[in-house]
Amino acid sequence: MAGLGATIKMYRDFVRGWWKYRKRLQHDDAWIRKYAAAKGLRVNPHRMFYTNLKIWIEENRDLYGRQQCPCFEPSGDPELDRKLLCPCKFAEADIQAHGTCHCVLFGRGDLDDRGFALAEKNLQREYRPKLNLSGNRLDTRGMPKDPRRGLPVPDATHQVKQALNMVKGDLVVIVETEHAVENLKRLAHARGLGFSSQLTSQGIYEVTLQRT
Ligand code: SF4
Repeated sequence: MAGLGATIKMYRDFVRGWWKYRKRLQHDDAWIRKYAAAKGLRVNPHRMFYTNLKIWIEENRDLYGRQQCPCFEPSGDPELDRKLLCPCKFAEADIQAHGTCHCVLFGRGDLDDRGFALAEKNLQREYRPKLNLSGNRLDTRGMPKDPRRGLPVPDATHQVKQALNMVKGDLVVIVETEHAVENLKRLAHARGLGFSSQLTSQGIYEVTLQRT
């Protein structure tokens, strides 16, 4: 569970993101509403959450150079990664099954505000798990997988973003794939953190994010 300090940092990140991307957020609003209207969907009415989703889409655009889903980092599988561009190829099946897409950006046309709020709560619970964090060492393995995408929820990048708000000093991160290492390298660069990685004798990767 995030403490008060972590919660304050989350609000600080929100304000910074909003300020940094404020012009691009307007463009996002236009394509999101156009897509929703064309598909007979509703856009999440919770203004702060909706704005956060747009900020995360823009952060991903800077990190990966494309309109990546705000809830999943690139997997390294080109075909799957194409399907993860927002609005993703999984959204329709998500909405049919649960009333909203995975990230709760879009919902059924008749979904009321309460339905969106419930979906949002579930998503926040999934993305605020008890991290496998021991001191300054985060093991990102073992998270449950989304059945449609086959990707962990939350993935390594989302876990690291959470852990960076909880740990002072350097963060050591255990990840399973080379592509997760590449994603963390991009994140480190964007956040002005030092970066190093090594493949251990157990065939896993140990990444160090250094606060300079
Ligand atoms: S789950 Fe929703 S927000 Fe995420 S990519 Fe799909 S449509 Fe976009």
